[in-house]
Amino acid sequence: MLTLEQFPLKFARDALAPYMSEETINYHYGKHLDTYIKNLNGLIAGTKYESMSLNDIIKSSEGKTFNNAAQVFNHDFFFRGLKKEGASAIPQKIIDAFGGRDKFFEQFKTAALSVFGSGWTWLTADMKIITTANADTPIAHGQIPLLTLDVWEHAYYLDYQNRRGDFIDAFLNHLVDWDFVANNME
Ligand code: MN
Repeated sequence: MLTLEQFPLKFARDALAPYMSEETINYHYGKHLDTYIKNLNGLIAGTKYESMSLNDIIKSSEGKTFNNAAQVFNHDFFFRGLKKEGASAIPQKIIDAFGGRDKFFEQFKTAALSVFGSGWTWLTADMKIITTANADTPIAHGQIPLLTLDVWEHAYYLDYQNRRGDFIDAFLNHLVDWDFVANNME
């Protein structure tokens, strides 16, 4: 049985303001992630998935079980990658791969804006920026994520309404924990 407490935030709920408000964290982490966890628990109870790791469930399931398991993984990964003003040490490998910090930000923003409807934008270990729709996740496709941005409307609507671009800018400039990204490269 998974619980929200198994996916603790590493920051106080008001620590990311004004870029991500406490109210957004209360809904996004406290309600949306909690619902995915509870849904997953209900779906896997009494099935072969009950004894599997979250990653193994994602790799071997489909439909509702996949969607909820992937959303649990995606949200945990997203929240672990956040830190206010954590941008002092953007890894050199990223700067080299994209031709500079600004070019990386520009490409990431373009990709995040291109997601139609709900989905995610990722930087993967092979230095590619990719997007996934709805709950889909790179680990289901053998790709290693380094960083993700949730671009479902629930991630930004309370703080930015329909201005997804402003949310992407705030994320890239003020909310990425580059130490988290560097650690995922190892
Ligand atoms: Mn979300």
